[in-house]
Amino acid sequence: MIYFFISKLKFTKQIALSKIVKFKALIYISVFIAIFIFSIFVSYERTNPKKWINEPFLSALAENNSEFIKVKNRREILLDKKERQYYFSSLENKIKTNKPQRNIILIIVDGLRADRMSLYGYEKYTTPNLNELISNNFFQYIKIFTSTCSDSVCGIYSILSSRRYDEFGFGLLDLTEVLKTIGYEVFFILSSNHSYMSLKQLYGESIDVFHDGISFKDSVSINDDYGVIQKLETIDSYTEQPRFFYLHFMSAHLLGKIKEEFAIYKPYSKQTPALLSSLNNVDYNHYLEKISNGYNNGVLQADYYIKKSLDILKDKGYLANSLVVITGDHGEGLGERGNFSHTFNLYQEDINVPFLWHSEGCNLKTLDYGTHIDIAPTILDCLNLPIPMTWKGNSLISKPQNKRLTYHQTVRIDKVVMVIEESKNHLYKLMANYSGSDFSKFRLFDIYNDPKEQINLINKIDPKHLEYLKYKLVSYFSEE
Ligand SMILES: [Zn+2]
Repeated sequence: MIYFFISKLKFTKQIALSKIVKFKALIYISVFIAIFIFSIFVSYERTNPKKWINEPFLSALAENNSEFIKVKNRREILLDKKERQYYFSSLENKIKTNKPQRNIILIIVDGLRADRMSLYGYEKYTTPNLNELISNNFFQYIKIFTSTCSDSVCGIYSILSSRRYDEFGFGLLDLTEVLKTIGYEVFFILSSNHSYMSLKQLYGESIDVFHDGISFKDSVSINDDYGVIQKLETIDSYTEQPRFFYLHFMSAHLLGKIKEEFAIYKPYSKQTPALLSSLNNVDYNHYLEKISNGYNNGVLQADYYIKKSLDILKDKGYLANSLVVITGDHGEGLGERGNFSHTFNLYQEDINVPFLWHSEGCNLKTLDYGTHIDIAPTILDCLNLPIPMTWKGNSLISKPQNKRLTYHQTVRIDKVVMVIEESKNHLYKLMANYSGSDFSKFRLFDIYNDPKEQINLINKIDPKHLEYLKYKLVSYFSEE
């Protein structure tokens, strides 16, 4: 078939390729197709139970990425156009009287679970550096902080745009553009490949200096966070020109490269075995221990690189009077409920990320709960700037809104959707599977009283209140 295709190509007639050249082309194309099919097969096998590996860069091959067409969301783009004019005219006077001075440092650790950090109470000492910064009162932190989704693209851009996944669009007014417009220089220094898929395009045109794993030195792999440190070391020192740094680390992610000195929890692994289902009980438990140790080593290394980056930025004069945020883009299943990796679920292991905040003069008003879409508004509020009307989150340095509802989802075609209700006494998570137009398998948990989501409260709360939450969840996602 391939030979037939090549022989029918127009150029082959014009150039009159020799049989040898055609034969070579046939071999090359066949080898390419074989490698392609093989890599799909390996990716599929590695994600047992029966789903694609959640890796933004591999999962580009999966059918579910057709979902990213949503970033052409027209309604949001129209709203954004209107808001943009109004917003920038309202900014003009503010900028004249209030020149920005604070450097902003946003650190996102890919796949970082809060409950695996000793600063959040984990029994292993995985975050010694951050623990110290907390005990020195350098950081405040929020006890329960959730990602919008359980995958990278959605998590990262929710942070930068204060929007939910179905509200994304290319070129929307986001944190990067606001900061650039008011005079910031924007530096994105990122581990891993961010040029792939829609992510780089979502980041927009307001970035002055962009490095991702692709631009690391030859000896440093794209998922090696040491590459971020090397790039940071080359930047010039602070000269009264405010900068916005977004640093992205991969240490806690399955693909993140771990240096031997951080591999202290043993035996460890970061690789999912080809077929979990082929493991017997003993092997499975051994695997659980290995993957858990591998993850802890990753958190330990991330903690080191965070401190190292802050030290470099301090030496270069950027940390004084700065605003620092540390968070994760999503969590990571480590065998809870038999689930591994991320993307597929919205349980706490999938979405409970840390939120650490440093800024003199802007103290957090709530330490109980926050979510990704609150990050960008909190930063602007701290800079004493207005928050665009099209942003969906709340400032965490303002008074919290009682009984707020936030919406979360996975981005696969067979979705899990969720509404979270935040109140003084409970943090309800109502989840459902959503496929086509059907909502099924409703389940409800109260994270304040049941952090591991062991007790389904679906028949145990006031039926009227349950109906209210169901109505909110169904109507919100039906409108998409
Ligand atoms: Zn991620």
